[in-house]
Formats: sequence, C-alpha cells, structure tokens
Amino acid sequence: MIMLSCIYCKNKSFQYDCGSKEHVILSSLGGIKASKNICCEGCNNRLGNEIDEPFADNFSFFSTMFNIITGRKKKASILKNEVEYNGNIYDLQPGGKFKLSKGSVRFKDSGGFSIVAGSTEQAITLLEQAKKKSKESTEDSMKIEAKSTKIFLPPQEKKLDIGGNLQFRSAAKMLITYLGTCINPERLRDGSFDKTISFIDGNLSEFSETYIGDCGLLLNLDRYNISNINHRAFIFASQEKRIVIGVLELFGAIRYTVKLSNVWNSSDFSRVYIIDPVNRKNQNFESLSNFTFDNYKECHQDSHTVLNGIESLVSNFQERQCKKHNSEIISDAINRHMKEGELITDRILFNSASEVANKLVQNFNRLDSEDSIDL
Ligand SMILES: [Zn+2]
Repeated sequence: MIMLSCIYCKNKSFQYDCGSKEHVILSSLGGIKASKNICCEGCNNRLGNEIDEPFADNFSFFSTMFNIITGRKKKASILKNEVEYNGNIYDLQPGGKFKLSKGSVRFKDSGGFSIVAGSTEQAITLLEQAKKKSKESTEDSMKIEAKSTKIFLPPQEKKLDIGGNLQFRSAAKMLITYLGTCINPERLRDGSFDKTISFIDGNLSEFSETYIGDCGLLLNLDRYNISNINHRAFIFASQEKRIVIGVLELFGAIRYTVKLSNVWNSSDFSRVYIIDPVNRKNQNFESLSNFTFDNYKECHQDSHTVLNGIESLVSNFQERQCKKHNSEIISDAINRHMKEGELITDRILFNSASEVANKLVQNFNRLDSEDSIDL
C-alpha cells in the first residue's frame, strides 16, 4: 500500500487517493478537477484561507457577474454592499443584476414621504412601517409617493491584485496540484519540486521563478481553447533542460508562469487541462502538438503582457455580458408579442423587431427609467 506524506507540512501521511481534496483550478473560480494525493486536510484549510481565498476574492466580481457555479455546486455569491449610488446601497446579484440592499423611506418637507425599494413586496412592507410611524408623529394624512426605479449604475472601480507574493503562491499551488495529476504523486516528494513547495507554503519570502505575463514558450497556445473565458493549466517538462514549467491562465487572460523544477531528471511531457467556469465543460490534452523545448526562453514579467491580459479579461467579459443582455431582450420581446403555438406573421415579426430595436437603443444610451409601483 502506497503511503503519501503531505507535501507541505510533511508530518501527516495518507493512503494513495485519500488525502485532502485539492482543486487544480480553485473551486471558487469554477474548478472541478481535483487531486487527493497532495496534502493533508489541515494544510489544505490553512493554505486555502491564507492564499487561495484572498486570491479568488480578487476575481469575485467576475465570478458573480458570470454566475460561476463553484466546484461544490454552490451558486455564485451575492456581493453585499457593492455599490453606493444616490445615497442607496446596492448588492450585486449572480448574473449581474444590482439590487437595493435595503429599502429606505424618506420624509419630505412637504409632509409626504417617498419609498425606495427593490421590489413591490419590499415597498409594501416599508409603506406599512412608515404609515405606523407617521401616525405616531403626525395626524395629517400623508401624501404617498412610491416609485420603483430602474437605474444604470455608474461604472465601478475594481481593484484587481493579480501580481504579488500571495497571488504567485496560489498560482504555483494550483500548478503543483495539476502536476500531481500528471505524474506519479511520489515524484512530487522526491526533492525535484522542494523549492516551489516551500514557496507555496510561505517559507520563502522571494521566489524568482514566478512570472506574470508571457511564459517564454514561443508556441501558439490558442488552439487549446474551449471558450474565450476558459481557465487553463499547462505543464511542460524537459529532460534535456532539466526543467518543469507550469503555466496557469485564468479567464482566458491572466497568465502566470512558474518554473516548478530545475532539477527534473525524467522524460519530456506536456499536458493541458482546460475548463470553462460558466458551462463547466472541461477537457484534457496530452502531449501538445508542435511543442519542443527548443523554443523555450527565460523571460520575466513585463507590463505590456500584463496589460494585454487585463484588457482581454475585460473585453471577454463585456462581450459575454452584452450577448447575454441582448438575448434576454430578444426572448423577452418575442414572448411578449407571440403566444405559444402561434404562427409567425408579419405583424408579430414587425412588433417584436421594433421592440428589440428600441430596447437595444435604450440600453446603448443607458437611459434611466422610472416606473410607478401600484400600491
Ligand atoms: Zn499537511
């Protein structure tokens, strides 16, 4: 029976395939593939809290906007109090809708009051409360003004910490975990990867073998895609150069390169694992075609590739949101103008099309609109 020691603390041991479940791509980023041959429960939790959670938090805006289901089949979380606008606080809902965190009642000088609410139910509750309160303070009948507002919130500033010790540690950890699924897990413990493991564990304050940006592999990696926002993990090992390189790319854009070993003494191989975090389709490739280590060169992070990465993350994201929003407008219009089982007539087509056109223009102009709530 094979016993494996935890690669981080080295104290705990477990049977083959019976260690703590460690995800290749963090489950909070939509990862599914995992290994149970890496570490103990304690180290998984410790490093999860210390490096993985803060790392994933950076991307939480995107995870919620894309409505990414996590590896534990949990829906993306609601981001509380994400935006303050016009004195109201809004939460970001999975899929990208902003909703009032808490309704409010405002008293006006004229003796009336207005209610701001996220839903009719919330408005009614607030109205009842306000009525009760107003009876205590004044006997006059109150003028009630209730409106439901639909607004386009101003663009949000997001802080994206992607390069830093903590982020590099988490990226290296994902790559080591992936490596553990590519090679005999005992090889992870033969000394070849000690420096990287020690870095992940937090024992090295600096680790010069981690880069963000280009991976130095003059190779077209684009063919290994299943969507434009997929996460990808690559491993390249060279016997001749004695190195193992890992490349992690998140949301089709942010790329980390880690030299996992420079004392590798086994055969060449290359692998890639890909997952689309939204539809959870994933794929493995063995032996990347056209890849030889001749075209590998040492390279360091440069701001240009980082900028390109962030740019493509944002544009991939906008493209998706726009597509989604447009298809919502179209299906909404068709449902409104067409009953089920009805045949399409010119009239239906014309009405649906003009509604779609109007809505698209309205969205393009980002017009604010107000609807009255019928109380
Ligand atoms: Zn451990």
